[in-house]
Amino acid sequence: VSTLSSTTSSILLQIAMRAEADPFRARLAGFSPWQPLSPPLPALFCSASLHSRPVHLVIPGSDQRFHVDSIGTQPAAVTAFAAISRFRPSLIINAGTAGGFSSAGAAIGDVYISDGPVAFHDRRVPLGAFEPAGIGSYPSLECRALAASLNLKLGRLTTGDSLDLCDADARQIAPTNSTLPPVKDMEAAAIAWVAGLFGIPFIGLKAITDLVDHEHPTAAQFERNLEMAVARLAETLERVVTSISIA
Ligand code: SAH
Repeated sequence: VSTLSSTTSSILLQIAMRAEADPFRARLAGFSPWQPLSPPLPALFCSASLHSRPVHLVIPGSDQRFHVDSIGTQPAAVTAFAAISRFRPSLIINAGTAGGFSSAGAAIGDVYISDGPVAFHDRRVPLGAFEPAGIGSYPSLECRALAASLNLKLGRLTTGDSLDLCDADARQIAPTNSTLPPVKDMEAAAIAWVAGLFGIPFIGLKAITDLVDHEHPTAAQFERNLEMAVARLAETLERVVTSISIA
C-alpha cells in the first residue's frame, strides 16, 4: 500500500465488539493492556508493534447503562474521532462482522475487503442535496492488489443502525450500477466519514456471520456463527496488517 511509506506511521484498527477484538489481540504478541481512550467515552485502546510499525486497536467499549458493546454508528464515529485525534494514524482499518447476501455469492465465514464507496442504507432524506449527503458514499482505499494477493473477496460496504433488513433498506442496498456484492454492517460508513475528514485512508474488513437473504433469522445466525467468523477475521486481519507493514 503505497500511501503508507513511513515505517513509523501507525495503523489504527477499530473493531465494534470485544468478542471480535479479543481473538485478534490474542494472535499478536505484545499488546499493552486495555486502557481508556478518552473518558467519559467507554472506548478502550491497546497498542502493539508489528514489524516496527505501531498498531493501535480501539473498541467503543461497553455501554455503562446497558452493559453491552457500544455497536452502531454513533459510538463508531465518536470513537474514531477520539482515536484519530490521539494517534494520528496513516491508515484506519475497520474490522468486524457483517451480513452477506447469498444472492451475491456470500457464504458464512467469507472475509470481504472494502472496494469503492462506503454508503449508509438507512438515511432517507429526499430533499435535494441532503439525499446524497445522507447516503454518504465515503471513499475507501483501493485494495484490489492486496485482495488478490491475500485471496480476499471485494465488497461494497453498506451501513445502517439495525441488524435486521427492512424493505426500504433493502431497496437502498439493491445494486444500482455496481456488480460488487453488498456487505451489510453497522459501523463502516460512520468511521469512513471521520477518516475522510482527517484525510486518512479507510479500509473495511468484514467476516460474514449471517446471510441476510436467508430464511433463518439474522440474530440466530449471528450468534451461531460469531466464533468461527471472528477467528477467520482475526487471522485475515493479521495477514492484512502484516502485508501493509512490510510493504
Ligand atoms: N446480538 C449480538 C449483537 C451483534 S450486532 C450479540 O449479542 O453479540 C451486530 C454487529 O455485527 C454490529 O457491530 C455489525 O457491524 C455486525 N453485523 C453482523 N451481521 C450484521 C447484519 N446482518 N447487519 C448489520 N450488521 C451486522
